[in-house]
Amino acid sequence: MARERLYLFDTTLRDGAQMHGVDFTVTDKLRISKMLDELGVDYIEAGIPGANPTDTALFSENNKTKAKFTAFGMTKRAGRSASNDPALAGTLAAKADAVCLVAKASAFQVRVALEIKPEENLESIRDSVKAIIDSGREALIDCEHFFDGYKDNKEYALACAKAAYDSGARWVVLCDTNGGTLPNEIEVIVKDVVKMIPGDHVGIHAHNDTEQAVANSLAAVRAGARQIQGTLNGLGERTGNANLCSIIPTLLLKGDFADKFEIGVKPEQLTTLRHCAHSLDEILNRAPDKYAPYVGENAFATKAGIHASAILKDPTTYEHVSPESVGNRRKVMVSDQAGKSNVLAELERLGIVADKNDPRLSYLLEEVKQREAMGYSYESADASFALLARRMLGKVPDYFDVERFNVNVERRYNAKGELITVAEATVKVRVGGETLISAGEGNGPVNALDVALRKDLGKYQSYIAGLQLTDFRVRILDGGTGAVTRVLIESTDENGEQWTTVGVSPNIIDASFQALIDSITWKLLKSNAPV
Ligand SMILES: [Zn+2]
Repeated sequence: MARERLYLFDTTLRDGAQMHGVDFTVTDKLRISKMLDELGVDYIEAGIPGANPTDTALFSENNKTKAKFTAFGMTKRAGRSASNDPALAGTLAAKADAVCLVAKASAFQVRVALEIKPEENLESIRDSVKAIIDSGREALIDCEHFFDGYKDNKEYALACAKAAYDSGARWVVLCDTNGGTLPNEIEVIVKDVVKMIPGDHVGIHAHNDTEQAVANSLAAVRAGARQIQGTLNGLGERTGNANLCSIIPTLLLKGDFADKFEIGVKPEQLTTLRHCAHSLDEILNRAPDKYAPYVGENAFATKAGIHASAILKDPTTYEHVSPESVGNRRKVMVSDQAGKSNVLAELERLGIVADKNDPRLSYLLEEVKQREAMGYSYESADASFALLARRMLGKVPDYFDVERFNVNVERRYNAKGELITVAEATVKVRVGGETLISAGEGNGPVNALDVALRKDLGKYQSYIAGLQLTDFRVRILDGGTGAVTRVLIESTDENGEQWTTVGVSPNIIDASFQALIDSITWKLLKSNAPV
């Protein structure tokens, strides 16, 4: 049976940009457009030309996306003709393949917010759609407040949708603008709409205020709608829009949808989904949600030993889809509850060859458990875990040995009379037969220690030249006077490789020192530095 085509309309760059804390530059928008285009969405709603300099600049260039590059705006104001409305003229002047205009579809909103007659609003919809078509672009109408409007005055909400369709709009998009509608209501209402407007002209635009934007979008599809509007990572006003990173894999991997519908995203493009989600976070300079379905770091993580051993036998025992299908990976966590199978799986992932009958594996497991009880956490500190494992299996050389270090922090007035805090560190290291003493200054004690330690490592200096500390996270465990500090350090090197190390101590300097030493040792090991 031929599958029906379902269209994906991405509004990350328009509705997503409405989210608190989200701000895109023109370059960001171009990068994200390219990414969305490669992913295979059908429409990219890129912004509101005329609303701000970024969007005006964006729509002044020809965009060469395969997806329909879409400009967003408002229907013409009542009391003037479409050709005489400067805002609409601005929208229509944009270089875009399609134009999506928002129109009120609720009698209450028309009366209270617009303060115009119901018929005037219908006329705005009709004239605006015609103006888009006359400009040679595909027309879409976002029926704002459609679901609330339908519940309040069904005839009027439907009349708005019908006015858009009858005037030639390619898509009539039903918006749950306030995000309060539930999936069962969406299904009933969309079923009613498609009696009047063919489903392949009906779209859904859901907001996540009850955490059901994805469910609402799928409910609308079940009821007959054939376009889904959403955003990457569910970005969007307030609590966000429908999350395409959850919707796309669901449509492709779940039989109920995959058997009936075809979308522009193909299985090989789906494998870039995790990358898309994380790249967007990188552009926004925020940490990806580890618990995000499908694309989160922990989406395929398992902790308990019995689960891990079953997963190694057959992944479908505890996984609803394969992590690789969305470009993610399975993660078996080494933790307190871990059995030997977890440790084995983790070693395998890190490329450490071990025989499962090696008695040293049991010692390693014991050591991990003991250290975790002390406050170490190896779930993100891969490099420290790999070092520990290799040490227990006798595979880490002693590159260098820190005999002692000294850190001083001083708060004083400088020559200009300003109060400053300076940190100085001295480190005595043995490398081979040589003893090296280095001093370093930093804006804090850990920084000074790092500077001193990496200033002179003798014959290893060239191996650590490209090493950089990119993140430093401190957590106080337990609390009270017996508190222990856990430090996680993230490092990168000249090849862009990244690793995390951990240190634990009641003393923050000592905890940081351990993590620093692990980071340097890991870099030497990775670089095959000679002993
Ligand atoms: Zn919206």
